[in-house]
Formats: sequence, C-alpha cells, structure tokens
Amino acid sequence: MFAQSAFRTRCAHWLLAIGILLLLASCAEEPSALERVKAEGVLRVITRNSPATYFQDRNGETGFEYELVKRFADDLGLELQIETADNLDELFASLGKEQGPVLAAAGLVASDGRQQVARFSLPYLQVTPQIIYRDGQRRPTRPADLIGKRILVLKGSSHAEQLAGLKVQLPELNYEESAEVEVVDLLRMVDEGQIDLTLVDSNELAMNQVYFPNVRVAFDLGDSQGLAWAVAPGEDSSLLDEINNFLERAQHNGSLQRLKERYYGHVDVLGYVGAYTFAKHLQQRLPRYEKDFRQAAQTNRVDWRLLAAMGYQESLWQPTATSKTGVRGLMMLTLRTAQAMGVSNRLDPKQSIAGGAKYIVHVKDQLPASIKEPDRTWFALAAYNVGGGHLEDARKLTEAEGLNPDKWLDVQKILPRLAQKQWYSKTRYGYARGGEPVHFVRNIRRYYDILTWVTQPQLEGAQMAASNLHTPGVNKTPPPEELPPL
Ligand code: GLU
Repeated sequence: MFAQSAFRTRCAHWLLAIGILLLLASCAEEPSALERVKAEGVLRVITRNSPATYFQDRNGETGFEYELVKRFADDLGLELQIETADNLDELFASLGKEQGPVLAAAGLVASDGRQQVARFSLPYLQVTPQIIYRDGQRRPTRPADLIGKRILVLKGSSHAEQLAGLKVQLPELNYEESAEVEVVDLLRMVDEGQIDLTLVDSNELAMNQVYFPNVRVAFDLGDSQGLAWAVAPGEDSSLLDEINNFLERAQHNGSLQRLKERYYGHVDVLGYVGAYTFAKHLQQRLPRYEKDFRQAAQTNRVDWRLLAAMGYQESLWQPTATSKTGVRGLMMLTLRTAQAMGVSNRLDPKQSIAGGAKYIVHVKDQLPASIKEPDRTWFALAAYNVGGGHLEDARKLTEAEGLNPDKWLDVQKILPRLAQKQWYSKTRYGYARGGEPVHFVRNIRRYYDILTWVTQPQLEGAQMAASNLHTPGVNKTPPPEELPPL
C-alpha cells in the first residue's frame, strides 16, 4: 500500500517535472515582442497626422515623431510602416491588436489615466500643458477663470483627463471633447473665436504659433510632463527596453537635441511675440510679394522661400524700410550693390527682390568650390551680411584653430572673434561685427524652415485658407521653380 502510493507520488512528481519542462520549452520557443518584430522585418507604428508628429511634404514623409521613429527602425534594420489614427481612443485601441501597430509615437503624454491602456517609454521631450486664449479677450490667469468658457480639447487626450481632474475641484467647470479635430483645428478655432479656450501641449503651440496670429498662452495648467512612446500593456519588456536604449543613445549623441532644435527651435529664436508677429506678417505682408519672390527665384535658380526668409530678416517684408547706414528697401540693399545689380529704385519691392536674388547668387558664386551645400548657402548668407573679405578672414582663423573652414558649424564659432582686437589685428580685413552674420544666418534659417512648413501641401487646408498665403492647389504639384530644399 505504502509502496504503491510512494510509486504514485513518484510518478506524479515525474509528470509534474515533465510538464514543467514542456512548459519551459514552449516558453523558450515563444518569441519575445522584439523578436517577433525583427522576424517580421517591419516596425508598425501608429501616430497622429499633425505638424508636430507626422505629415507628408513635397519630399515625402516627415515630422518630429516620424524622424525619430525612422531612426529607431533604421537602427534595428527594419522597414518602417506608419499608420495614422483618426483619434486618440482609436490609437490606443489599436495597440497590441493582431497584425496591428506595435508602437505608438504620437506626441503622447505618459499620463496616469493611460497606465491601463499602454506602457510608456522614457520621456524624450518635456512639454507643459497650456491654456490658450484669443488676443483681445480677457486673459484667464487661474483655473477658476475657466468656468463659464467654451473649452474644447481632443477626445481621449491627456488634456481631457486633466480637465476631468480639475472638474472634481471645480464642479462648475464645463468643457467639451471632440474626436473630429486635431490640435491645429483647436488653435484655429481659438484664433477665429469659435471657441474661447483650449488646452494643448507647449510643443504643439510652439510648432503652430506662426500660423495663428491671435492665439496666446493664458497660463500653464500644471507642471511639465514627458512625451513618450507607447507599446501594448500586455507585452513583455523586450521592445520597450530596446526603445529605451535607443532613446538614451539619441539623448547622449545629441541627435535628439538636434531634432528638437529643428522642429521647435524657431520659438527660441523668435520668442512667442516674434512668432505671432511673424504669423501676422505671413498673412498680411507676404502675399503682396510672394509672386515677386517666386519670379526672382525662378530667374536665379534659388528657392523662393530662402529669398522670402532673407526679405523678412532684412525688412520684415517692408518695401520702404531704410536704415541709418543707408541701406534701403525690402532686401535692404546698399546703393552700390543696387547699382551693380541693375536696381534703379531700391524702394520698388519687385526690383529690390530681384536685386537681392541676383546678389546672393553672385556672392555664392564667389565662394571657394570646397564649400558644399547646404553649408554653401549659409556661407553665402554670411558673406551677404558681413562681406566676403571678413568671411575669408574667419575661415582662415577657423583653419588655424584646427577646425574645418568649409563647415558653417565651425566657422560660425569663430566669426564673433572678428570683433576682438586680439584676433582681428591678425586678419587682412580687420574689425567686423562678427556676431551679426551668425544671428543673420540663424534667423534666416528659422524663417526658411517655417516657410517650408507653411508651404507644405497638407497644411494647405485650414491654415492656408486662413492665412491666404496660397491659392488652393498651388502646392499640390511643386511648381518648377521649387528647387529641392537646402
Ligand atoms: N499630448 C496630447 C496627449 O497626450 C495630445 C496632443 C494635444 O492634445 O496637445 O493626449
């Protein structure tokens, strides 16, 4: 009896052991989330179609999230497949579905309310939720001022979650959520007075402020929050670990910072006041001269948006601008330059633009052949501003420092030295306000970037209609004078 039951127990143990082994074996065979993605060779990503995340321009797919996630896919040797969700609820619902996206990269706040529906990566961008109101209206300064206002936010957004939290403390607060709109629509609705207020992330405002001249920040609602990528909640950690490693690398090697600079840096340069002033001028002034810029660009084979950016830097698109130093007109030409370029009346915007275009091409042609694009364009702008001789001096100093005289990044570091005796006394052309061309080039590059976004085909709809910058359809097929971006 005893022996039999001992035998049975032993058998049971064996069976259990075999069972565990089988289980372990089957577990070992089950590929991890990362292995599955790698085996498939495709990284399926879901995002939102918006200027701050993902959109198409004349060169194809672009956007902050797109560029970052593309690098991640490239690092893993995977093909990137982008899907866009109609709204945030749909975005989260699609995560983890069979054959669905494995990753959401969509400017998402890793909020408390989302911990059930997704697992988040390390943050890659800090943003602040901001209450937005319309210039000319009374500015709300604290949460209680939101009561009685028409407030609209994205359905399922971190902002809807925040307002729901606020409503607990302020029961009279009312707000609406919509799944039919994107952040650009919310900003436009405030800009046009269709709603009183909205709540958006600071990065979205930074990106869009230049389109909406009447939009202002009322106040920050709460502390800054991190944007992060999301994966399905049930997944093992392998994909998320890989994502975090990638984001850490991007942080350390500076590529993340460069991307932030490129997409959001213009607000640092313009400031918010500058950004909405630019938006105003984009609506009110640029349309008067756009044709002239395009024509001069075509004649001289340059990008019209670069010329427009120069014109903005020079005169804020004002044809009668003059300065104490005797430069005049929309492109602020000196009398000598104007004469050399065949400009008889510097205050005639068409002539000024044509002269400026001809001159920048002429300056560019004088540069040494060793300077290649896109740096060549930045050097040309610097020479336009400070003069070719001084620029040559700065290049020599750059070389003497062991840096590359053909790289704008290096030469711009050295240029300010032309204002210090210790350095300029050793140069051929002597003193120059060397810091100026650095600002000049930086500003123009920002304006140029903004004009590039503004003239993107998919921004044509609402914003473009509002700005009157383009007649519908103009950008559907790039006109012949549009050269590839610099
Ligand atoms: N960041 C927001 C979110 O996580 C979406 C964009 C916005 O509403 O500004 O829901």
